[in-house]
Amino acid sequence: MSLPLHRESIASLRRKLTAGEITSQDIVQDLLQRIASVDPKVKGYLRVDAEKALAQAAKTDLKKPLGGIPIAIKDNINEKDEACTCGSQILKGYQAPYDATVTRKLKEAGAILLGRTNMDEFAMGSSTEHSSYQKTANPWKLDHIPGGSSGGSAAVVASDQAIASLGSDTGGSIRQPAALCGCVGLKPTYGRVSRYGLVAFASSLDQIGPFSKTVEDSALLLQAIAGQDVMENTSRPVPVPDYRAALNQPVRGLRIGIPKEYFAEGIDPEVNAALKKSMDWFADQGAELKEVSLPHTHAAVAVYYIIATAEASANLARFDGVRYGHRTQTLGDPLTIYRKSRAEGFGPEVKRRIILGTYVLSSGYYDAYYNQAQKVRQLLRRDFTNAFQNCDLLLTPTSPTPAFKAGEKMSDPLQMYLADICTIAVNLAEVCGISIPCGFSSEQLPIGLQLIGPHFQESSLFRAAHHYEQAHDWYLHRPNL
Ligand code: GLN
Repeated sequence: MSLPLHRESIASLRRKLTAGEITSQDIVQDLLQRIASVDPKVKGYLRVDAEKALAQAAKTDLKKPLGGIPIAIKDNINEKDEACTCGSQILKGYQAPYDATVTRKLKEAGAILLGRTNMDEFAMGSSTEHSSYQKTANPWKLDHIPGGSSGGSAAVVASDQAIASLGSDTGGSIRQPAALCGCVGLKPTYGRVSRYGLVAFASSLDQIGPFSKTVEDSALLLQAIAGQDVMENTSRPVPVPDYRAALNQPVRGLRIGIPKEYFAEGIDPEVNAALKKSMDWFADQGAELKEVSLPHTHAAVAVYYIIATAEASANLARFDGVRYGHRTQTLGDPLTIYRKSRAEGFGPEVKRRIILGTYVLSSGYYDAYYNQAQKVRQLLRRDFTNAFQNCDLLLTPTSPTPAFKAGEKMSDPLQMYLADICTIAVNLAEVCGISIPCGFSSEQLPIGLQLIGPHFQESSLFRAAHHYEQAHDWYLHRPNL
């Protein structure tokens, strides 16, 4: 029995397209219908441009690697002549004057840009509830959150409203929503993908990556967007390997470290049980599992909320009511205009981060907080370097719990910050991580497992993740919408 087109992966649609069985207009039409029927419930998209997508589909070049494949983009990645709001009122009315490098690369690879997805304001959050436009629902349980900050990008893939999407991950914002929605989410190594045209949150941590239905599709997308970029000097001159070739290398012989700090208190028992089963599977396949220690893990969340807020306070200074988006109606001198525009345009979580970041950078506190955090970041980085001396990959939960109920953590920022306890250190150490589905809770909510690899070893992630995925059927389950 053949699946409706919106259910399929990039790889299978590409086979059908090149065999002449379907056209890319067929795919776009089918997705537009799907969006019309389910997005009123999921609210994953901020904007869908049907006419533009159909026009792009009519010009599809099937010889290109992503020719004819519709992809959704998080609303903090520039797409020329499209609005780019970052989920914020302060960018209302702003139109991107240029393409981000990833957007340009997707276009060059033949992809169709279908629409823009909802997110926590400026990517600050873990539930997408901090979007100033709408709340996105978890497709598996509509009164639960989809994770964040790329909740829209995760939810549209999990509910088959896009074949794949792009998000950004500063402390977990791709992997955590992928886990909570039951799809594949990859945070590449820092420097693997150009950040040019991604609206900066914390520049030393931000990285763009794909959401997809399969690991193979994740490899295809990384192939299209990876590489050094003359426009972005933190992108690195490391050759881009053939990621798909890695998929078929066996799991046997892989050395997988289990960091004991990630299985401590606070991990939901059902998450723990699903993870244990996946470890047994890897051991049965001939992988060598060993306990390892990342001794500074306990400091990761604190270090992150100093460094990320410090960088955010500097990056967000450009939103002054003059150069971009919203400007106050109040008349006054320039300082009054800056103050009023910012007070009106930013939401409460963004203001909290700017205040925290300004505080940790201020004279008198700089040494106590910011400098100290940079030192501990080095220790965290060293933890990973040491662990990777004896293993190829690490296996951990992606999120300590399955999706929580909407509203549950909104009044307690610290509880919200702890949602990223398993993902944040990966960004601080600049290594790569992938989340793949590994089971369901008793409430039928998806559970994700995270594989972490050394710098620029995304191929090892794909290799292990692909075999696990194909030996289980988690990736075939779909929410009832
Ligand atoms: N939840 C984390 C934060 O709010 C991570 C967000 C992200 O990765 N963009 O900062």
